[in-house]
Amino acid sequence: MSRSAVKPAHPHSRHAQLGPKPKVKELLPTLKRLAGYLARRKGLLFLVVLMVAASSALGLLGPYLVGRAIDDFIMTKDRQGLVLLLVLLAVVYVFYSATIFLQNYWMVGVAQKTVYEMRTELFTHLHQLPLSFFDKRQHGELMSRVTNDIENISSTLNSSVIQVASSVLTLTGAIAVMLYLSPVLTAVTLLIVPLLYIGMNWITSRTRRLFKEQQRHLGELNGFIEEAVSSKHIVKMFSREEKIALAFNERNAKLKEAGFWAQTYSGFIPKLMNMLNNISFALIAGAGGLLALYGHVTVGVIVVFAEYSRQFTRPLNDLANQFNTLLSAIAGAERVFDILDTEQEEKEKAADVQLDNVRGKIEFRDVSFAYEKGNETIKKVSFTAESGDMVALVGPTGSGKSTIINLLARFYDPDSGAILVDSCNTASIPRSELRKHMGFVLQDAFLFEGTIKENIRYGRLEATDEEVIAAAKSANAHSFIMKLPDGYETKLQNEGTGISQGQKQLLAIARAMLADPAILILDEATSSIDTITEMYIQEALSSLMKGRTTIIIAHRLNTIRQADQILVLNQGQITERGTHDTLIQKQGQYAGYAQRLAPVAAEQ
Ligand code: ADP
Repeated sequence: MSRSAVKPAHPHSRHAQLGPKPKVKELLPTLKRLAGYLARRKGLLFLVVLMVAASSALGLLGPYLVGRAIDDFIMTKDRQGLVLLLVLLAVVYVFYSATIFLQNYWMVGVAQKTVYEMRTELFTHLHQLPLSFFDKRQHGELMSRVTNDIENISSTLNSSVIQVASSVLTLTGAIAVMLYLSPVLTAVTLLIVPLLYIGMNWITSRTRRLFKEQQRHLGELNGFIEEAVSSKHIVKMFSREEKIALAFNERNAKLKEAGFWAQTYSGFIPKLMNMLNNISFALIAGAGGLLALYGHVTVGVIVVFAEYSRQFTRPLNDLANQFNTLLSAIAGAERVFDILDTEQEEKEKAADVQLDNVRGKIEFRDVSFAYEKGNETIKKVSFTAESGDMVALVGPTGSGKSTIINLLARFYDPDSGAILVDSCNTASIPRSELRKHMGFVLQDAFLFEGTIKENIRYGRLEATDEEVIAAAKSANAHSFIMKLPDGYETKLQNEGTGISQGQKQLLAIARAMLADPAILILDEATSSIDTITEMYIQEALSSLMKGRTTIIIAHRLNTIRQADQILVLNQGQITERGTHDTLIQKQGQYAGYAQRLAPVAAEQ
């Protein structure tokens, strides 16, 4: 990957850190916050609750009617009564199904709207986060939050909310009816509850931790794959296939291990429930039989209890089954909220300065900046570029050239000192306002999926077709565009594969031409481009630079020579400054540098 001035992430920090350790948040605050999202759809939720209440009541009514059928009609051989009761039972179950259908239908609506909002919020928020946030995280991990984590939340909302509500209602209803029918048998049925509670607690505390672990390893693996895929040519170039396979295996194995234990523990839950269910059934049958012998309860009541005990453990069973999704969703929600809680680029006040008729004078006053605290990248840098000047930044890799540009565009803000545009401190100019007056032509021209025309128009969205073509013409891009199969309508895929690096640059220049900014930021290509295209680029750049203040990271002697001012950077400090001639006369660092560049210049 070639370097560009605006680097989204610093390679070292990306490897060193996989984001901050997930804050161990409480379950309750996370649930509360999720509930806050749901509360925005009160109407639909009310309907869902209504249907859940109805279905729980009807679900309890069914077994009760069966018990009555046994005691009142089967025992007394009352055929007519039995038929009537069976019809009533059928009606109850039809309504029961209808309420189940409706509660699901409305709940899906609630869930989809909720996660739609969360996705929007998260995506918007991501765009407002400072670049330093992205420096510390793998892109794959972030992508997984926007898609996987939110999808988890969605599937959980779809099923779990209803399950929880209906479980609570069914449990309360069942206990009430059971107490009414036989307090003694109720006590026997409830015996199983402490066992359930202890068993569940033991398993779920482990499962929660294990699921979080699994989710973390999955994020890491995703990030690793994304990085490996996007840097595959580098891997091949340096024959690092084996090394990367080893590193992959290591992460893959960790995920396998975490997945194994998480699934094993959660798999125990339904089995345990089943066993307890059977024990409960045996207890009811035994105790109920005894009570019936002494005439304390009827056979119908035993049947109702046996059925209710199933109803009784089923909600808990359901909850347990839900636990897989519930846990990973809560873990996911915590990670989503983590991002939402990360501070945005500090909010800009509406009253902030607007720039009119920008002339493009740029001034750095004692600017210092560190990406990581305590390790200053830029130290007390001061310079002035008068309107229309061309300033070339020259210096070895890592000397801070790109950082100066990052600061000028306010991708980062200086720790001390001030940057002024037209004598106005950029700290008080909204970022978008500031960037409106800047054009970027970077080494790695960014092109998105869309037509050539759309890509150029990105510079100024309201430009007419004629203006787009005029810009392409002055950027020397028109002739190559016309040779493409669909001309300006040619679709670019995958960041413009299919056109050459040089042609991409020409498009970037056309885009900047169209935007017509007062300040131009250039990062000259270091890679060699064929001589003809190179000539086109040089010519297009010269006409682009006319009348604009240009800050250029320059690598070619020809370009550097033309600069009104050359700033030689070394370890974040300006060590020499002046024009080519004065610096050559000085016989300092620049003179040596220029000499090394000379053969390159001669080649061109
Ligand atoms: P140049 O453009 O002259 O090659 P840079 O401005 O890119 O230099 O880098 C200056 C220093 O800052 C280097 O040591 C580089 O490793 C470091 N650096 C650059 N970007 C980041 C970042 N996003 N996070 C941390 N350190 C960075």
